[in-house]
Formats: sequence, C-alpha cells, structure tokens
Amino acid sequence: MAERFQNFIDGKWVDAANGTAFDNINPANKTDVLGSFPRSDHRDVDRAVEAAKAHFATWRRIPAPRRAEILFRAGEIIGRRKEELAHLMTREMGKVLKESLGEVQEAMDMTYYIAGEGRRLWGETTPSELPDKFAMTVRVPLGVVGAITPWNFPLAIPTWKLAPALVAGNTVVLKPAEDAPLMAVRLVEILLEAGLPPGVANLVHGYGEEAGAPLVRHPDVSLISFTGSAEVGREVAIACAAEHKRVSLEMGGKNPILVMDDADLDLAVEGAIWGGFGTSGQRCTAASRILVHKRVVKEFADRLVTKAQALRLGDGLLPTTDVGPVINEAQLKRVHSYTKLGLKEGARLMCGGEIIKEGDCRKGFFYAPSVFGDVVPKMRIAQEEIFGPVVAVLSVAGLDEAIEAANTSRYGLSAAIYTRDISKAFRTIDGLGTGIMYVNASTIGAEVHLPFGGIRQTGNGHREGGRQVMEVFTEWKAVYIDYSGKLQRAQIDMS
Ligand code: NAD
Repeated sequence: MAERFQNFIDGKWVDAANGTAFDNINPANKTDVLGSFPRSDHRDVDRAVEAAKAHFATWRRIPAPRRAEILFRAGEIIGRRKEELAHLMTREMGKVLKESLGEVQEAMDMTYYIAGEGRRLWGETTPSELPDKFAMTVRVPLGVVGAITPWNFPLAIPTWKLAPALVAGNTVVLKPAEDAPLMAVRLVEILLEAGLPPGVANLVHGYGEEAGAPLVRHPDVSLISFTGSAEVGREVAIACAAEHKRVSLEMGGKNPILVMDDADLDLAVEGAIWGGFGTSGQRCTAASRILVHKRVVKEFADRLVTKAQALRLGDGLLPTTDVGPVINEAQLKRVHSYTKLGLKEGARLMCGGEIIKEGDCRKGFFYAPSVFGDVVPKMRIAQEEIFGPVVAVLSVAGLDEAIEAANTSRYGLSAAIYTRDISKAFRTIDGLGTGIMYVNASTIGAEVHLPFGGIRQTGNGHREGGRQVMEVFTEWKAVYIDYSGKLQRAQIDMS
C-alpha cells in the first residue's frame, strides 16, 4: 500500500476536500509507487489562500533578518539530508543520482544565498528637489504569492521561489508538479523544522487545470510565480491579466551551442553530450541545437554520435547509469513523435530514435539518446522544445550564419559558443538573444547568485536567482519626509 501524503494548509496536513488522490510513480520503474497525493480542487486552493492571507499580517512584521534565520536553518537541514533527498529525487523523477545531489546542493545554495537578503533588502536614498525634505525607497512584500512549479527540478525550483518570497515577507501557496510532488512535501517539512510559523507556507497538490488554474485566478493572490511550458505560461499570463495580477514566467528553451572551426572539438563534444543528454534532455537549458562550422561538422557529428551511443541508459540510482528515463509515458510518446517528424522533414537520424524496452528498461520510460544530422533551421525539430534526449546538428558557413540561425527561435534562454577566438566569443555574447550565455562551456549549469531567465517566449522580463529575484517578490514604495515645517510644493515652477 502506497504511503498517503496530504496537503499542508494553515499549519495542518489535510486531504483534498473531494477525497480523491493520484499516484506518484518512479519513471524508471512503474511498479515503484512513491505515494498517493491529494487531487485538490478550487476548495483546497481557497482554504490555502485564505490561510496565507490571514498569516501575512503577522509574518510581514517579523524583521527580515529573523525571517532569514529560518532560511539559514532550512539550508542546514537540506545539507544534512542531502543524500536522502537526492535518493528520493532520483526515484521520483528519474535524474541520475549525481545530478540529484547537484540539485539538492543548488537548493541549499539558494536558501543560504537568499537568507543573506534578510540583512540586505536594500532601498535607496536620493536628494529631494526641495530643502528640508528627505526622499527614500523601501521594499515591501506583495502579500500572498502563488508558486507553480514543474517536475524537472522538483526541489530547486520551489526553493528558488519560496526562499525569496518568504524572506521578503510574503506568504505562499505552492502548487508543485503532479509528476514530482514529494520533493515539495520534503521542502515544506524542512521549512517547518527550521521554524517557519504555521500558515506562512501552504502546499496544495494536484493537476494544473484543477489546482493550478484556481490559484492563478484567485483574487487574493498578488503574484503568480510560474515555471513550466510556454503553452501553459501563456494561459497563466492571460488569466493574471484579467485580474491585474503580477506574474513572473520562466518557460521553455531551444538552446543552441555554436561550435566554430577553431574550437577544441573534444571539449565541444563533451559539452554537447552533457547539455543534450543530462537529465535526459529535460532541462529548460538543455542543448538541443548544435550549430557547427561546416569545416568541422562531419568530424563533430561523428564524435558526438560515438559518445551518445556509449551512454548507458538505466535507473539513475545505479552507479553504471549515464542517462535516466523520461518523466512519463506521454512524454516518451511525444519524444518519439519528434523522431518520426524529423525523419519526415528530411533530417538524418544518426543514432537513437527509439523507445528502449530491453532488460530493466522495460520497467520504465526510456528513450535512446538520439542525434539528428542534416537539420536546417526551419525544421520543427530545430524549432520546438522536445524536452527529451534528442539533439539536432546543423551545419553553418561561419559565425554570422550561426548567430542568425541561433536567433531564429521563439525561445531565448541559454546559449553557448565553443571557440578559441576571443572576438568571436564577444561578438556572440553581443549578438545572441538569450538571457544566459556560456563561452567554452555547455548551456546548462547556472549558479544561484546570477540572474536566471530568458527573453521572447522563455520569459516575461523577470529573472530568478541573483539579487534580481527580489524585484519579482517585492514592491517598491517611494517615501518623502518633509521636515521643513511648512507647505512645500514639488514641481511648481519657481522661476
Ligand atoms: P507544464 O507547463 O506542463 O506544468 C508546469 C506546472 O504548471 C505544473 O505544476 C502544472 O500542474 C501546472 N499547470 C498546468 N496547467 C496549468 C493551468 N492551466 N493553470 C495553472 N497551472 C497549470 O510544464 P512541465 O511539463 O511540468 O515542465 C516542463 C517545462 O518547464 C518545459 O517547457 C521547461 O522548459 C520548463 N522549465 C522552465 C524553466 C525555466 O526556469 N525557464 C525551468 C524548468 C522547466
């Protein structure tokens, strides 16, 4: 019998109001059920928002350095429980253990980093245009924050949102992804153990339409912080516009690596393998397009294929595994449909392109690491986010063509260039429309103290991580203090 997990509302663990539940399944082994979770609806969301709203008044009055101490303690607990959390994460969503350990580390790093904001949260002072008048800005919390998160970083992304929301004095309702809800339970438990008062962070499990959409529409939610697909992000943004609600969106990517003819090819191939097949290609920053100078494209593609074929598929808990499963059956079918599409579009399948059902792989959702050659920019496999272990190799005549092709995308998250020529590197940094840029490193591997996010259909002008994240979770207030003792009128023409 699978363990039964609950929502966390107003300081209590409770079932969904409708009493229904869904199972959380290990994608490497369908018979391994991690637990059953409440399939919540608008009633649960309403109760969670009501609790978050009620506790906002007291939480915001706790001094920010005190709020931050709770985060520091949470970071310590995450660090102590690193192995156990990583193990569970691999079971829950499939990434190999080393990557899960990396994600737990990232959650801890973010918690510590943002806890530091408790003693910063700086405003500014500035001269007034009038004598005996003081002018300054302060940051204030927004109120109730609705956080909606995807399954591919089930601990790090909720942490990226909850830590800055809480340190700023907001209260939260978290709706985690239905494919990886257990990590969110662990995060809430850790925050409670660290001393977070009841009702400040609330957790509502469930499906997007049933639990996510009511949270987005709720009039008492001041901000929706969403990470997920561009398609759902668009719906979320439209619903928020109807309520005049602030919304921050972190969405998909079709991230290019540019490989010039002067590049260290071994390094570039390694970067493409790591960026393309790490987390089975299920990262928003995954390297899914490799734009290679025509002089080296054949050699590069051959080396890439040799390395991709050598990757060992399997359960991420096994030390022999390089690439884990994809998240679920629907995603497995979706990835395979892109292989068929690529062939129809005239691309050349150089390796992979199949669902793996042999040996232990038959127990889960495994797709062979796949490389397409002879891809051109207008093909859908070069344009659409596949979110699986599929890499498209395109040949380009030189840097200008590479930059133009890289920019032919609805997304603009991350990009990389491999070159030994410093001027080519700088021209690419300047010319590429992305929020993140790597030189001689792959498209993945963001650090928490730098801003994370992208342009075009990747984001809507906000950044997570870095000090920039505080812009999302606070409002500015301008304050004027007139100590002249008389009526002074600003903007009156004195001439
Ligand atoms: P998704 O858009 O299907 O779901 C994301 C979340 O939104 C889930 O919690 C889901 O339940 C919820 N949701 C679905 N429909 C909803 C609705 N109508 N209203 C409110 N909420 C709803 O995405 P996914 O499959 O979980 O994650 C993969 C996607 O996330 C990829 O596109 C990936 O690129 C993107 N992603 C982006 C970043 C980033 O920071 N830019 C990071 C990780 C993942």
